[in-house]
Amino acid sequence: YSTAAALEDPIKPPVNVEYNKLLINGQFVDAASGKTFPTLDPRTGEIITHVAEGEAEDINRAVAAARKAFDEGPWPKMTAYERTKIILRFADLVEKHNDEIAALETWDNGKLYEQSAEIEVPMFVRLFRYYAGWADKIHGLTIPADGPQHVQTLHEPIGVAGQIIPWNFPLLMFAWKVGPALASGNTVVLKTAEQTPLSALHVAKLFHEAGLPPGVLNIVSGFGPTAGAALCSHMDVDKLAFTGSTETGKVILELSAKSNLKPVTLELGGKSPFIVCEDADVDQAVELAHYALFFNQGQCCCAGSRTFVHEKVYDEFLEKAKARALKRTVGDPFRPGMEQGPQIDAEQFEKILKYIRSGTDSGATLETGGDRVGAKGYYIQPTVFSDVKDDMLIAKDEIFGPVQTVLKFKDLDEVIRRANASRYGLAAGVFTHNLDTANTLMRALRVGTVWINCFDTFDATIPFGGYKMSGQGREKGEYSLKNYLQVKAVVTQLKNPAW
Ligand code: ADP
Repeated sequence: YSTAAALEDPIKPPVNVEYNKLLINGQFVDAASGKTFPTLDPRTGEIITHVAEGEAEDINRAVAAARKAFDEGPWPKMTAYERTKIILRFADLVEKHNDEIAALETWDNGKLYEQSAEIEVPMFVRLFRYYAGWADKIHGLTIPADGPQHVQTLHEPIGVAGQIIPWNFPLLMFAWKVGPALASGNTVVLKTAEQTPLSALHVAKLFHEAGLPPGVLNIVSGFGPTAGAALCSHMDVDKLAFTGSTETGKVILELSAKSNLKPVTLELGGKSPFIVCEDADVDQAVELAHYALFFNQGQCCCAGSRTFVHEKVYDEFLEKAKARALKRTVGDPFRPGMEQGPQIDAEQFEKILKYIRSGTDSGATLETGGDRVGAKGYYIQPTVFSDVKDDMLIAKDEIFGPVQTVLKFKDLDEVIRRANASRYGLAAGVFTHNLDTANTLMRALRVGTVWINCFDTFDATIPFGGYKMSGQGREKGEYSLKNYLQVKAVVTQLKNPAW
């Protein structure tokens, strides 16, 4: 791993924080209470800046602005092509400011700068271009009815969408939520995660420069139980979309039920199997399984966090997986060539170390890692456990950190049963070149995404979402538009049924 000395001296981020207030009705404003909260640099735990802290009263203001922009327009009333053009101009502006937005994302989140600059900001741009293209392709049907009526459906925006996002992919979650909502004519109040408020404010400013009318997109930074809960309970919010933990997802559904039954889409936790079959080229399987788990410091809801390996290749796989983890470069995310940065904050850092202790205590073998890196910030050694049993906590709970758990299996029926024996059903990875094995697993696994000989492929076009307690609804792709549209049936009595 990288040396502690290198971590003691963090690289100065090549960007300044320009926006730290709430964005309501097109204006940056202080919180009604005047309160602020600090957002921290995960490399050091030091304060980057203080951000306005939204609470119920700010949510009220933001929802009122979104309501007005929806009810009075111009957003849902302008032509779809006008919306397309504004969204495309926004994508162009983000592309132009790629590197500063990427730096802000890395500073606030701790993810690798190369990942922000070369993958995530470009993907953000791609997502908005994708949704811009949808705006004028949303239309209803003409339906042959039994009686003398002309029947058609109108696909209409739902209204004010309340959206709550997590800290692991602040920009991408913004795009997954805001993109389809705005393209289909809704207005939005977005609550960012309290750990990562900065990039959303920055890009939202650019959206207004691109011509977005005031009130269409409002951003409230703040905490879950205050700002988040107020958004979920609001009687004037027509739809909710949430990404985060399964526990909070339950609270969100409850708040909707207790208020106005606004429909809810949820993208929640996971404990995804990554299945290495007996025919696997072990070197390739090790590399892909490593990526599936360790990408983004292991902070992915769909992380391949149960690595099932066929007994025939298990020993070789384990030895190589351990060597690969040992080779992983951990260090300042602004330093070129690093593979892993710090975890997001002290809470996650402690939680991950606790799971590592639980793994050892429950009898799993710690092959490598298990401790922090350096004395400062939230860096954790890439960790690999073997001899993991299905009923151990580390095989059941979402660890959300750089901890690979390797489990052995004998045959396909067994691995299907064990892979499906989870309350989660977000994703699965399958590594095989046997067509029959791939087909069997692809159909048998009860998950929202199966990646075969690849992992974490996240095109704008591909729907993503969970089975079971991993969520409700799909984001990205054409499916995501359904979350933000409702269907109106229009039935007209015909004067002359012959025509
Ligand atoms: P994590 O454990 O990854 O932080 P959470 O589900 O706690 O996941 O957080 C995801 C998002 O949900 C964050 O924006 C957070 O502020 C918000 N949140 C947390 N608790 C609530 C709540 N009770 N009501 C609404 N939003 C919440």
